[in-house]
Amino acid sequence: MTLPAHAQAVIIGGGASGTSIAYHLTKLGWTDVVLLERRTLTAGTTWHAAGLITSAGMATETLLWMSRYTRDLCRTLEAETGQATGYRQIGHLHLASTPQRLETLRREAAFVRGFGVDNVEISAAEFGRHWPAAKTDDVLAAFYVPDEGRVNPADLAMAYAKGARMRGARIVEGVTATGVTTERGRVTGVVTDQGTMTADVVVNAAGMWAREVGESAGVSVPLQAAEHYYLITDTVEWAHPDLPVVEDPDRYGYYREEGGGILVGLFEPVAGPWSLDGIAADVAFASLPTDWDRIGPYLSKAMDRFPSLHDAGVRTMFCGPESFTSDHSPHLGESPELRGYFVAAGMNSLGILLSGGVGSLTAQWIVDGVPPVDITGLSVDRTQVFETSRRFRKDRTVEQLGALFGDAAFPTWHPTSARNVRRSVIHDRLAEAGARFAVSSGWEYPEWFAPRPHPDLGQAWGRNASFAIQAEEHRTVREAVGMLDMSLMAKFLVQGRDAERVLNTISANDVAVPIGRIVYTQWLDDRGGIVADLTVTRLAEDRFLLVVTDLIHRRMAPWIERHMPSDAHVTVTDVTSGTTLMTVQGPHSRELLGRLSSADFSTEAFPFLTAREIDLDYARVLALRVTYVGELGWELHVPTELALTVYDALLASGTDLGYRNVGLGAMGSLRLEKAYRDYGLDIDNTDTPLDVGLGFAVAWDKPGGFIGRDALLAARAATTPPKRRLVQVLVEDPEPLLYGGEPVLRDGRWLGYVRAGAYGHTLGGAVGLAMLEDEAGLPAADLLDARLEIDVAGTRYPARVSLRPMYDPGRSRIIT
Ligand SMILES: Cc1cc2nc3c(=O)[nH]c(=O)nc-3n(C[C@H](O)[C@H](O)[C@H](O)COP(=O)(O)OP(=O)(O)OC[C@H]3O[C@@H](n4cnc5c(N)ncnc54)[C@H](O)[C@@H]3O)c2cc1C
Repeated sequence: MTLPAHAQAVIIGGGASGTSIAYHLTKLGWTDVVLLERRTLTAGTTWHAAGLITSAGMATETLLWMSRYTRDLCRTLEAETGQATGYRQIGHLHLASTPQRLETLRREAAFVRGFGVDNVEISAAEFGRHWPAAKTDDVLAAFYVPDEGRVNPADLAMAYAKGARMRGARIVEGVTATGVTTERGRVTGVVTDQGTMTADVVVNAAGMWAREVGESAGVSVPLQAAEHYYLITDTVEWAHPDLPVVEDPDRYGYYREEGGGILVGLFEPVAGPWSLDGIAADVAFASLPTDWDRIGPYLSKAMDRFPSLHDAGVRTMFCGPESFTSDHSPHLGESPELRGYFVAAGMNSLGILLSGGVGSLTAQWIVDGVPPVDITGLSVDRTQVFETSRRFRKDRTVEQLGALFGDAAFPTWHPTSARNVRRSVIHDRLAEAGARFAVSSGWEYPEWFAPRPHPDLGQAWGRNASFAIQAEEHRTVREAVGMLDMSLMAKFLVQGRDAERVLNTISANDVAVPIGRIVYTQWLDDRGGIVADLTVTRLAEDRFLLVVTDLIHRRMAPWIERHMPSDAHVTVTDVTSGTTLMTVQGPHSRELLGRLSSADFSTEAFPFLTAREIDLDYARVLALRVTYVGELGWELHVPTELALTVYDALLASGTDLGYRNVGLGAMGSLRLEKAYRDYGLDIDNTDTPLDVGLGFAVAWDKPGGFIGRDALLAARAATTPPKRRLVQVLVEDPEPLLYGGEPVLRDGRWLGYVRAGAYGHTLGGAVGLAMLEDEAGLPAADLLDARLEIDVAGTRYPARVSLRPMYDPGRSRIIT
């Protein structure tokens, strides 16, 4: 087929992702769709995948939905398109052979059961009955999902492609996309080796090529190909096609029957990045040479699960390249750099089992302009541009396969490679003070402080050595004063004579306030879903400071620019690097700051939710009286070159007040006791402010309205009593811990799950924010009277629920 001149949507890449997007777009009525494939369909990674279709490891609602939705499609596509997918429902088994793994899988099973997945814990002996050749003496339990299985990946992609063609999509093979055309920040077409075509929307679904394809459009898509292996043995007499798929994370292996032999797949802990300098133009249906020295020992360990496999001959040793990302999540959605340019790549070896979901959500996002599910952990705008650097990709990719399959599921896990990339100015001071660092959006942030050597936390669930350390830091903030380095927060100056008007159209709250006022607000999409949660501080008539979580740093400027009139006089400047954000919190913060400044910190002179520039030691800093921990405190925005001066001054002046550094681990527990929301963790784009108890921050009647107002008004009218509600929960038994994902039950029936949890050291139990849903409605009185339980790794514990913060509901600690 020759290259068409125009299409409503052009998709680059004919693997499982691209074909599924084409299929779903046509299903939604966008039939003027062209898919460009440089070689032939499935020639990238799709052709050789193992085809596991499972919910194992799907720890978020979105990932779980994506995998189950794909499974459903695998079952129905043949009837719809006439193209078989090769799906076989043979069941899936997930093995636990350490106590930590057992707890992990019990927690996962409890979570997925809430969404109707029949995940059953079975004994080692029962596992042995499924796979009589297995070594079972080290197995503590297995988790069995009977209604999952395997598919033939190439057939699945062909079925998507056929379904798309049947509704009018055109698939053009042998065409390579080499660039894009743009106009005023918007994509207008695709340049190929066979000419240029115009398009309203372009989707980069180019698999492991997506980084380079993105680069050709000025779009950052940080991912890296790595070697990925499986071996297929010769025929073994005990193999049969109905053997359920097995995943054995402690051996980094997975297994299924293949042609009378056994396929042994690997997720080795020391992986091999492939083709760091870009992928050659002629790569298709690639099969790479085996690096026996590296993978030999892991393969042997994996085969130990079925000892007799060591005696079986090897029919096929396969190594194919697959792309991995720095946080194991795909990159989806509209790029922050270029409007109308969508990305669907970085599948981390899950691109078959996620393909249905990837296609459905990308297509809906394109057609409706709004994603249909929570995309905070998947949106391409969460990524960091520096992650495309060669050295970052080289170093990080080494640990990604093993971590994805196993250790990243543990609560103490953080990546160990490519660290210390993004550091606050006071990082070395914090390190000297004993900080244990964790990483978020590439930022090193202190989790807690303790003398070195730090205790080894292992892979523990439950109370580890950091529990008492964090309890102490928590108490410092509640009873004395502590400093938390929050430099990772994203900060923007929005300036210009139209700044107030533009921000007021975007913000649900009213930011047309006097100079020096701080406004807590959400930004909403057209459906009323929250796209950002931030503070807006008015610094001058025509100048505002925005402070927002690091997770959506790259979303902010494009969101403003894309939602303001083209003639608006507004500039957006990212000042994150220019200021160090030290937040000084606790009842003694007033006295401490008073010792270092001539400013008056009394409530009369410096009320809650106001900001002013003050002197502090030798420095001048912007101080915001605001708190994220529920205490008296100030957020200090310090010019970067003055940060060490301020840090040292605080330390020198505060010892007798109990002042010390506090990590962000304690912040998690402090803010959850106060039921403060954290965007991306406990609130997301699928929630309206009404769903999550933030109606108080909506200025319903402000002149000119705001984006999302109509949807929100409709929701308000339709939801009495509300059908979904974010509530604070506290486990009555002081022992169990919450991490997020735990089901909440009423009278034994699933009502929702904990979105974020921590230990409330002041409340004396695990505390969290849970989203509860009930079609019959959730009246406040019923909820408060209800007997709720929280399922922690299979054991149910009574829990209290509250619609007001359990800690200091009257805000007396803050407004003092
Ligand atoms: C050994 C192995 C086992 C696996 N097992 C599983 C499994 O059991 N389950 C699972 O879910 N996943 C598995 N995967 C992962 C899965 O194969 C991938 O995630 C999935 O195939 C990715 O699909 P894709 O469409 O995103 O990319 P691809 O299949 O790579 O498709 C991208 C396409 O884009 C084309 N392209 C690139 N650049 C251009 C350009 N400039 N112009 C036009 N076209 C272009 C390429 O030719 C290619 O066909 C496995 C992978 C490997 C290597």
